[in-house]
Amino acid sequence: MAADCLFCKIVAGEIPAEIVYSDDHVIAFEDINPQAPTHTLIIPREHLSTLDELDEGKEAIAGKVLVAARNIARQKGLDKTGYRLVANCLESAGQTVFHIHFHLLGGRNLGWPPG
Ligand code: AMP
Ligand code: ZN
Repeated sequence: MAADCLFCKIVAGEIPAEIVYSDDHVIAFEDINPQAPTHTLIIPREHLSTLDELDEGKEAIAGKVLVAARNIARQKGLDKTGYRLVANCLESAGQTVFHIHFHLLGGRNLGWPPG
């Protein structure tokens, strides 16, 4: 756990969140400021600040997060209509919380390319 990391505090149960999935490696919770009818954040329990810290040896974590995202998308019925999985890395991509997270977005036409 990293001191002063918002998402580590959610992992530790120190800050409340609407948790939709949890296992030994991954938790997922609803985004506090949803940008689509489904906007869920999927994160590893382990603190890694950005995707740039996803070194060799961390493949299993990445895989577990992606499979959890796919399972949550299925639970929400998005496998029928489509969804987007986004990870913003560093400032110019809009990263504001420095604990790796994937945004699962769906439930509306998302458009492409992003702004
Ligand atoms: P990013 O800008 O890619 O770093 O995404 C961070 C996301 O975390 C944003 O979509 C925020 O709305 C979301 N967020 C910030 N604080 C919380 C919180 N306490 N609970 C749930 N989501 C949050
Ligand atoms: Zn953290």
